[in-house]
Amino acid sequence: MMANLINGKEVSKNVKDRVKSETAEFINASGITPGLAVVIVGNDPASRVYVNSKKKACAEVGFNSYEYALPETTTQQELLELVEKLNNDPKVNGILCQLPLPSQIDENAVINAIKPEKDVDAFHPFNVGKIMIGEYSFLPCTPAGVMELIDSTGTDISGKNCVVIGRSNIVGKPMAMLLLHRNGTVTICHSRTRNLAEICRNADILVAAVGKANFVTGDMVKDGAVIIDVGMNRLENGKLCGDVNFEEVEKKASYITPVPGGVGPMTIAMLMKNTLTAAKLQNK
Ligand code: NAP
Repeated sequence: MMANLINGKEVSKNVKDRVKSETAEFINASGITPGLAVVIVGNDPASRVYVNSKKKACAEVGFNSYEYALPETTTQQELLELVEKLNNDPKVNGILCQLPLPSQIDENAVINAIKPEKDVDAFHPFNVGKIMIGEYSFLPCTPAGVMELIDSTGTDISGKNCVVIGRSNIVGKPMAMLLLHRNGTVTICHSRTRNLAEICRNADILVAAVGKANFVTGDMVKDGAVIIDVGMNRLENGKLCGDVNFEEVEKKASYITPVPGGVGPMTIAMLMKNTLTAAKLQNK
């Protein structure tokens, strides 16, 4: 049996449509148009693609977006001054600083400088702490997008074995926490994990956020599992591929996300949702 495909384009469009109609209502009621500031430092081509997609999504849902493109040579002090200006700008409800930053800038210093109520990526320690407690206004975009995808399959997470491969601060760790909040029994795997394949074979829900093409093979997957592939790996031929060996795994899974067209579009949709939440919180 072949797995059902989880359509990230469709699910993300539903999220954006909801944000769009709520934004129209919010503008009607308050006269305020939500604004997202997008900061990009340097000329990384992948970052440029992400920033363009984020600006495009803002236009789609009815937000203003303000781009700040700074040169590769920008100092930490200069970037921190910009963040401070945006923190104090009432037109700006959300601040997004596209990572990675050039090596002369300490990413944590920048993340820590963003006002928590404008931190629509939910990377600030204050928001990370709120996620831990389970009382959050901003969900971290990629893990929140994954939750929407799982929910779109109708899978009940409660009591299920959930395995997350990867423990980064932006994907793996918050992903595990969101699954735990929904009463999953969560295991986090990483590069030191022993018997990783065996642990994965136990998963009813498997989320791969490793950054290695074809890492998850068919023999690591339980029959009927839900497979979410967060990986975005650029192959030598320029093709984008996930962490999961799709051909092998789709023969065993009940549901699987494709790459591209799975988790990728969700991240931006959730960023839009967070920006609207920020605008509402700042204009109560
Ligand atoms: P990361 O910071 O590089 O983290 C990778 C994680 O995978 C680490 O925790 C690492 O373990 C673990 N890992 C590496 N090799 C492993 C191995 N052989 N066995 C088990 N675990 C291993 O990456 P990330 O930022 O979380 O991103 C992960 C992937 O998701 C990347 O492909 C990235 O491009 C993609 N991504 C996609 C989106 C999206 O919107 N779709 C958003 C963000 C990221 P250690 O901690 O032990 O080193």
